[in-house]
Amino acid sequence: MALSTYGLKRQKKIAEWETRLRLLHEKYPRLQEIDTLFSQFALELALLEMGKGKLGMGREELTKAQEALAWEKKKLLREYNLPDNIYEIWWDCPACQDTGYVELGKKCQCLLREEASRRWQVSGLSPVQVNQTFANFSLQWYEDAEHYKGILEKALNFAEKISCRQPAGNLLLYGAVGTGKTHLCSAIANYALQAGVGVVYMKVGRLLDLLREHKFKLDKNDLYTGQGLESLYRVELLIMDDLGAENLTDFAREQLLLLLDERINHNLSWVISSNLSPNDIGAIYEDRISDRIMGTAEVLKFTGDSIRIRKMVKQKASP
Ligand SMILES: [Zn+2]
Repeated sequence: MALSTYGLKRQKKIAEWETRLRLLHEKYPRLQEIDTLFSQFALELALLEMGKGKLGMGREELTKAQEALAWEKKKLLREYNLPDNIYEIWWDCPACQDTGYVELGKKCQCLLREEASRRWQVSGLSPVQVNQTFANFSLQWYEDAEHYKGILEKALNFAEKISCRQPAGNLLLYGAVGTGKTHLCSAIANYALQAGVGVVYMKVGRLLDLLREHKFKLDKNDLYTGQGLESLYRVELLIMDDLGAENLTDFAREQLLLLLDERINHNLSWVISSNLSPNDIGAIYEDRISDRIMGTAEVLKFTGDSIRIRKMVKQKASP
């Protein structure tokens, strides 16, 4: 994907450069003469090396003539208000000349940046979530700050292991609405994405819609790209937000169980966030689902009331 994009970009840049030089020569014929003469003299110098000179000029004379041409060209460029790099190919990235590689097998910064931006694109994080990190997860809103410090440490530990491709297990974050679960999910996702890990974040409701669409759609090809089905099963880290908010049907239960089993069997981690307690999950979903979750996940309990409400109260109270 990246390579073909780069190949196309290079072709375009080279075509643009050729057109630019042609137009330049049409507009300023003297520049064309200079360029032609310069090339002739360069060729003659090479022929002289082999004892086959044709113009009857010596080495020194040729070199001097070339210097004079270069000087005149520089003067003309200034006179015509043309930039010094008018003769160069205008690469987007001069470091790799838009190849994406600085040397064999070594990716350029521009390609690394593009790959990162693509990872974020397919991750499904909203623009707000992209800015939710461990660094800006503020403890000041929590009554039980010590408890949340512990949660933060465990979540960071999980994100670090995922980023080093070590077995990290799974996480269940549960607690009341507005206690910061989604922020922490985003922080884990952003941390892993930064490290080059593939992440998909999805609300459980959307995830089940996708599975349903897949089941009833004959043309399945479009589901196997981007945020499609394949990525749910195979992405390195799957974050399922808001378990319990979806329409619960037998189909949903069955699909969720399949997905969890498949990921557990392939040692692929997931994070689930829910307003439901583990007991509720057991009661609402079937036991097999809560067994899979409780049997493989570390449980982080988000205590207290909604910090969203507390923030609003504080804003209203202050002048
Ligand atoms: Zn580059």
